[in-house]
Amino acid sequence: MTSEESTVWSTVFFKVKGTIFQVPPHRFTEHSEDFANMFHMPRAGHAESVEGKDKEHPIVLDDYEAADFRALMKVLYPAPKDVISGAYTLTKEEWVGVLNLSTRWRMRQMREHAIGNLSKMSLTSFEKVTFARAHKVAKWLKEGLNEIVTQEETFEPDELKLHLGLETAFRLVWIQNQALKRPPAMSPSSNPQFTLGSLSCSKCHSAMFNSPQYCQHCGRTISVNAPEDISHIGKVGSLKVNSQNLRCGGCTRIPLQMQSYACPSCHSSTSYKNFRLMASTHQSPRPDAKVEDVFKEEIASYESWDQ
Ligand SMILES: [Zn+2]
Ligand SMILES: [Zn+2]
Repeated sequence: MTSEESTVWSTVFFKVKGTIFQVPPHRFTEHSEDFANMFHMPRAGHAESVEGKDKEHPIVLDDYEAADFRALMKVLYPAPKDVISGAYTLTKEEWVGVLNLSTRWRMRQMREHAIGNLSKMSLTSFEKVTFARAHKVAKWLKEGLNEIVTQEETFEPDELKLHLGLETAFRLVWIQNQALKRPPAMSPSSNPQFTLGSLSCSKCHSAMFNSPQYCQHCGRTISVNAPEDISHIGKVGSLKVNSQNLRCGGCTRIPLQMQSYACPSCHSSTSYKNFRLMASTHQSPRPDAKVEDVFKEEIASYESWDQ
């Protein structure tokens, strides 16, 4: 054995929360500058430092869990027989352990590997947020928070508080609240810009009326672009408009006849009950609040970790 080989395969002793690990240090130094510095820097006044040299003088890593360390060992030093047989697999908990230590010890390749493997496992929205925060993973924070905001299931306040903390829960509720404020903007009755031109074909969604109509009761001209000629009463739950809810600007009665109308664009007919609102009428003037905006700083701080 040359002296170089014996250096590579020498071992050091770590003590992690009461468990002694005897491992060759070379892959620690290859993957982590922190360890490279630790093993190669002569200590002031301790040129003959014995730290890590034997069981009685291990390098003590008390802030870490033995299970996490064991999982990292599996990835740093996989046993050839496990790799060959395909038995080289880690559980979700083990990958989280690898992620934890590789993040703290700045082992970038190991960290990316752990994130990649965990992303292939089914993480819940709450797990994504929790892991994102514990290990600075911007991608999971965005995914998890967006899932919680948009999914149908509603969570109990205590559940949100437990998994996300009060401040995050409050911000998510605020985002959802902003989204809820959109329907009034969609309702033509509260929209002063509602006109005959706001009614569109149920099939092709283009404007149903390109020319003025005349009120069936008072004969008033209902212009395509004049909000004062026509209004809408009651709430609109969807984009569908029933012309029975329309009122003439002159006589306040229903201006349009109860019949089907032929679309000037696609020529299919739309019943007076089934007009649609033109897109321009129901568009929200303000963009929705987004997870990416509300949590911008936190996302940026995690993204900067990987740069
Ligand atoms: Zn009228
Ligand atoms: Zn049409």
